[in-house]
Amino acid sequence: MITFKEKVMKNKIFRLALILLLAGWAPLAQAAGKLRVVATVPDLVDITRRIGADLAEVQGLARGPEDIHQVVMKPSFVTRLNKADAVVYLGLSVEHSFLPGLLEVARNPKARRNADTFGCLGPGCIDCSEGVNVMEKPETLSRAEGELHPQGNPHYNLDPQEGPRMARLIAAGLARLDPEHAADYERNLKAYLSELEPRIAEWKRLAAALHGFKAVSFHKDVAYLGRFTGIDFVDTVELKPGIAPTPTHLEQLVKKMKGQGVKLIVREQQYDAKVCEWLAEKTGAGIAVIGTMANALPDSETFEKFSERNLKALLEAAGKRGP
Ligand SMILES: [Zn+2]
Repeated sequence: MITFKEKVMKNKIFRLALILLLAGWAPLAQAAGKLRVVATVPDLVDITRRIGADLAEVQGLARGPEDIHQVVMKPSFVTRLNKADAVVYLGLSVEHSFLPGLLEVARNPKARRNADTFGCLGPGCIDCSEGVNVMEKPETLSRAEGELHPQGNPHYNLDPQEGPRMARLIAAGLARLDPEHAADYERNLKAYLSELEPRIAEWKRLAAALHGFKAVSFHKDVAYLGRFTGIDFVDTVELKPGIAPTPTHLEQLVKKMKGQGVKLIVREQQYDAKVCEWLAEKTGAGIAVIGTMANALPDSETFEKFSERNLKALLEAAGKRGP
């Protein structure tokens, strides 16, 4: 005889099995006939969704608020990568904390890993750093300069003007993998660019107010942002990329900021707020909190919103008019 308790338990197991069955089937049903794409950061998820539209099922890995140099690998990432037709990533080793390890475990021939460079090598790899005019390229391969940017500064997504280039690469990659729909990807690309490019022109006009404005950033990730806005970044709060500030460095930084009239501190949201507040108090500088990828901060889930939000933060902290 089955007791009430057993009946409830059986019911629960049945329901769980049903949920698992549906969960297992649903993505397959949704993805039927669609390209399965994994994009490493929310900016790329957004752009890929705009280009892929209803022809691609796009999933992301990093959520946005993380430090991109320290994204923690999760089992669900492996499952996503294992089934992917394409992997869209920023490249220049910026995904070093999670992508090479995941590619190795996922064993997806479409996204093979290069044993020497740790890069993505298969036909499904869409490297969005292709064609970037890389800034802060190290002259030597010395590890002494900080280990986080061995191929030069990889944070090019902070320059809104890199958006159209990334979008074109993604469109070309999707068309290569799914030539039957090449015309659709091209049409979606044009529609996206016709929306994005006028915004970039407007941001560029607003950014003129920041030209020559001196600033320090926490991490050495703002070269491309400096290129776009004209902000003159004179130093970092970190001693070197990935190396925390020492008391001596902070003392020297205060002197330097006072001496050069630096009135802006740019804090990437994942970094220590307290040290920036201390520095602001010592120097009278304003603090702009920015994201280094989309969705790092609220209401910045798309590349467009992310770019605009960062610019607004800079203009406001510098005492200029925002968008
Ligand atoms: Zn970095």
